[in-house]
Amino acid sequence: MGFLRFGLKSCVQYRQLHLLRNQAYINGQWVKAGSNVVFPVQNPADDCVIAEVPDMDASDAKNAIQAAANTFETWKNTTAKERSHILRRWFNLCEKNTDELAKIITAESGKPLNEARGEVAYGNSFLEWFADTARHINGEIIPSPWPNKQILLTRQPLGVVSVITPWNFPFAMITRKVGALMAAGCTCVIKPSEDTPLSALAAAELAEQAGVPTGIINVITTSRKNAPSVGKVMCEDHSVRCISFTGSTQVGKTLYGLAANGVKRVALELGGNAPFIVFPSADIEHALDQAMLAKFRNNGQACIGANRFLIHEDIYDKFVKGFKSRIAQKCILGPGTKEGVTCGPLINTQQANKVSGLVEDAISKGAKALVGGKFAAELGSKYYESTLLINVKQSMSIFTEEIFGPVATCLKISSEDEALKIANSTRSGLAAYVFTKDLGQAFRMSNKLEFGMVAINDGIISAAEPAFGGIKESGIGREGSRHGAEEYTDLKYTLMSCLDK
Ligand code: ADP
Repeated sequence: MGFLRFGLKSCVQYRQLHLLRNQAYINGQWVKAGSNVVFPVQNPADDCVIAEVPDMDASDAKNAIQAAANTFETWKNTTAKERSHILRRWFNLCEKNTDELAKIITAESGKPLNEARGEVAYGNSFLEWFADTARHINGEIIPSPWPNKQILLTRQPLGVVSVITPWNFPFAMITRKVGALMAAGCTCVIKPSEDTPLSALAAAELAEQAGVPTGIINVITTSRKNAPSVGKVMCEDHSVRCISFTGSTQVGKTLYGLAANGVKRVALELGGNAPFIVFPSADIEHALDQAMLAKFRNNGQACIGANRFLIHEDIYDKFVKGFKSRIAQKCILGPGTKEGVTCGPLINTQQANKVSGLVEDAISKGAKALVGGKFAAELGSKYYESTLLINVKQSMSIFTEEIFGPVATCLKISSEDEALKIANSTRSGLAAYVFTKDLGQAFRMSNKLEFGMVAINDGIISAAEPAFGGIKESGIGREGSRHGAEEYTDLKYTLMSCLDK
């Protein structure tokens, strides 16, 4: 493979990845962009080009939407049992190809191979879950207020769903949406992140092998430059009935605005600013273990990643000391393919600069880095040291913005009320973590935290079974659980009258 025209390095090792596809997938065909233009997908670990993929534009997006709309006419009439079996076959193939999928995820996202395997298991659990859920998307019969009449509520699939996904979980963010919408009887067009389109194409390849009928899943790849024009079509085309997006709050707001014109359903999973609150009654060693997971999984690049550590003054020093030594010992930075590495590179230069800028700003305003606080330049330009900041103030940008990187910020609190006030003082409302052994306190916190998800004494919250989602500016709608599939249905009311005649 030669990518010299981009002035970039090429890598021969990727030839061995048998699920690697370098074309988009529309109506069951592997296709180029109408314009024939391509863009490179780079490995953030070493900037090598893994593949070039089509740089599709608005007219390609229209073709994909048309394919999804045509297929919806037949797919909507399939039985729940048929859809369940098809999803199960896709699940089985993804499971069988875990290692191959994981290698692609690591190559394009940079995460360690172990975490990539974990992502395949996690992402695939949604296909398994929705294979089951497909058969339990039930309606209701409600006692009518009138004699001789029956009230029926049935669930009908929405139609074509536009799916726009981010780079941090390039496989799981697709299965979580597509499993649900297929279970409901919808079809889709997926636009994966420009940083990580290869996992999406590999998932589509496995869907094809699993016998998912053509036109149900369509994947269009675009560069960042074309994302706005493609996104506009995906939100405004009359055949599209829903926009399902995971990504930044800023882009989510743009898409929400575009969807409003056509009064389309939106499912938005946007940014978070998760508090991680530790009270004196907590098991501190356990809280520290969970803090490592909540902060450093995926190198901090997760919307539910702990952003603000609010630690009670009685245990602050002990917690900070334990956190510092754990970070120093357990965060091993390096390329995701290297044995023993726990933290890979950040996804791209923009993200790396954002993290570094936030830390520099905080330090210039009085924060102190107990560990880390700079780039690990010897490894490459996208590696940032796992960092612990103290003396952080609420007014600092690092406290108010989503960091999306390997930086833990600690703030001392002195009461439950203060913890709540600080935790809730954000426009985001995705996940919150609380550590306490006081049952009453656990319930009070769960009740009063303005977040869509609250974990008591745990640092990992997501799975296929619960309902994942945020409140406030963190989003609209829920993913996973039975609610995840219901998001892609309309509730139809039918009145059956004259039943005595
Ligand atoms: P991140 O910071 O994680 O890259 P973004 O919200 O910028 O989050 O990107 C998430 C997804 O949204 C990606 O697939 C990206 O290409 C897409 N995207 C970015 N801008 C737009 C836009 N204006 N319209 C449609 N999609 C967009």
